[in-house]
Amino acid sequence: MAQIINGKEVAQKVRSEIAAEVENMKAKGIVPGLAVVIVGEDPASKVYVRNKKLACAEVGIYSEEYALPEKTSEEELLALIDRLNEKKEIHGILVQAPLPDGFDFKKVTERISPFKDVDAFHPYNVGKIMIGDFDFLPCTPAGVMELLKHYDISVEGKKCVVLGRSNIVGKPQAMLLLKENGTVTICHSRTKDLASITANADILVVAIGRGEFVKADMVKEGAVVIDVGMNRNKEGKLVGDVAFSEVSEKAAYITPVPGGVGPMTITMLLKNTLKAASLFGND
Ligand code: NAP
Repeated sequence: MAQIINGKEVAQKVRSEIAAEVENMKAKGIVPGLAVVIVGEDPASKVYVRNKKLACAEVGIYSEEYALPEKTSEEELLALIDRLNEKKEIHGILVQAPLPDGFDFKKVTERISPFKDVDAFHPYNVGKIMIGDFDFLPCTPAGVMELLKHYDISVEGKKCVVLGRSNIVGKPQAMLLLKENGTVTICHSRTKDLASITANADILVVAIGRGEFVKADMVKEGAVVIDVGMNRNKEGKLVGDVAFSEVSEKAAYITPVPGGVGPMTITMLLKNTLKAASLFGND
């Protein structure tokens, strides 16, 4: 039976470290600040935004929420971003995805100052990740790396397989594993003979958005299995991309859903906000 990687516990530990650093910064006269912008009424997005605000309060980060109505124009949103880019109290800006139809998410992302881009979605920060010289890391892949570090799971020389190639999870995840000297393979929906590749992985990170897709026969005995997926099954229950009950019989380590990668994502957002304040706080 695999050891369960407890994301809640690690997130709590990292948050208390962040809270202590926030106190240090406040003593130096800098209060880290995050602005969260949401457009429209998407219920899941509203929950995410509320959780982000609560997490900020928990560690002493100042936060502002901008809840804009669905009919907001792209120009109005861009004008708000311009104001937040200039605002001294704000060190991080996050625009909650998805935006309503008609918005160009790429254009919106690129309007955020790269120095306040705590999601690390701006091409400037994406490029910095590519060359391994970064200030901010995208929150979910960074959370995965923090979990591996916490459980003393070394990446060096390991066969790492990342299932999924999205810009926010799969691709940056592969870059971070590579930076830690893993031998990385990226798989996607056009990959042929997928199971034979995943079954060779020492470390398997799955981010595809397909409930319980990865079965035991796709996993090597003793592998580390990190499940980023968040899906609702037919009964409405939250499940990952990995069939937890059967894969946990075979893996050495596994993240549960919920309680694995999820709690780390917001924690990494807090960490990025703190970093932005420490790097650019007085500018
Ligand atoms: P995405 O943008 O939809 O990308 C999914 C990726 O999976 C694509 O690269 C796609 O390949 C690949 N894929 C889909 N079906 C596949 C299949 N049958 N076989 C192989 N590859 C397949 O998703 P995402 O934003 O990366 O999110 C992935 C999952 O992680 C979702 O469940 C999401 O909810 C979850 N998530 C969780 C957190 C968290 O905090 N825990 C954060 C972000 C995302 P192609 O490129 O070929 O289409």
